[in-house]
Amino acid sequence: NRQIYFFRRPDGNPTAEVFQERVVDVGVPGDGEILCRNLTVSVDPYLRLKMYERRSYTPPLRIGEAIPGRAVAEIVASRAPGFEQGERVAIYGGWQQYAVVRAQAARKIDLASFPAGAWLGPLGMTGMTAYAGLTRIGKPQRGETLVVSGAAGAVGGLVGQIGRMMGCRVIGIAGSAEKCRIVRDEFGFDACLDYREPDLAGRLESVCPEGCDIYFDNVGGEISRQVTARFNDFGRLVVCGLISQYNGQQPAEATAQDEFMRLILTRRLTVRGFIVSDLEGECPEFEETMGGWLRAGKIVHREHPRYGFEQIVPAFLGLLSGENTGKSIVHIAEE
Ligand code: NDP
Repeated sequence: NRQIYFFRRPDGNPTAEVFQERVVDVGVPGDGEILCRNLTVSVDPYLRLKMYERRSYTPPLRIGEAIPGRAVAEIVASRAPGFEQGERVAIYGGWQQYAVVRAQAARKIDLASFPAGAWLGPLGMTGMTAYAGLTRIGKPQRGETLVVSGAAGAVGGLVGQIGRMMGCRVIGIAGSAEKCRIVRDEFGFDACLDYREPDLAGRLESVCPEGCDIYFDNVGGEISRQVTARFNDFGRLVVCGLISQYNGQQPAEATAQDEFMRLILTRRLTVRGFIVSDLEGECPEFEETMGGWLRAGKIVHREHPRYGFEQIVPAFLGLLSGENTGKSIVHIAEE
């Protein structure tokens, strides 16, 4: 069983040296467990946060620990009633070829109806994050303006598309002209701004002349300071991710932070952080709704696939340099 593990804590931008590979015995499933062959693994930015040795919503990675992550897998052997060899499941399989997991934590999936990437993307944690964050915290109303950072990414691309369906005017922010084109032309956002070009503030003003009602924040930092400055009264800030800060850049200056707190008070903003697992229990309709949208072509699912086990680490590193457009996945075995 080839397995990627955490070798060294990064200082700033992680490099491939953070990871190492080893071959380990996968073990045999005990009662209630299944042995799975990972077919496709997900790479996600939250992993960068787990590399810090500090308290967070998920425990830090220990040196030597196998890298966790969601995967679409095939059951190879089962000691759990109701789970048969050959069935496909979504599991916490990690960056490895095989995994033994508790069947209770496995979700049966049908690869004939949607490809693996869709089960890790719009129908997986990524889609739940977009859907739950926007509907439960953003609470979009018809005619409102929704701004989404990280708009060409996995979560952001879905947020804007759902927002459009709910009648919002949707503005994306992304890191290149080509990404902005995709966000507009493929995902159907009303506009998209390249934050690497000068004068984001001025351009935001011209595309949001009536201000911003909902900001779905995936990136934090300077981009978010510019967007929050355009909040209307009773705006909603969905604090989903702060990827621009994940590599340990200096936190915002205290004065900017104070200014932000002042905005929250004077414009009566609702700010609520959330973690997708808090909300998934509240969304029983999620899979049916998202599946229906996908089938009807109302949601464009765009993947950024790589092929081969060796591509797992480069795929993860690519998230942090913005190489991906859409959901990053790595196919590591034939389906
Ligand atoms: P993405 O597919 O969006 O990939 C990451 C993207 O982030 C890159 O493509 C890049 O796009 C952008 N990015 C990287 N560095 C910076 C930077 N310094 N400034 C601005 N943008 C940057 O990943 P996901 O969709 O999986 O995740 C998006 C966000 O949502 C992350 O912050 C993640 O942590 C968060 N998240 C939160 C969850 C929760 O439960 N709260 C659950 C899942 C995800 P570009 O070229 O545009 O810069």
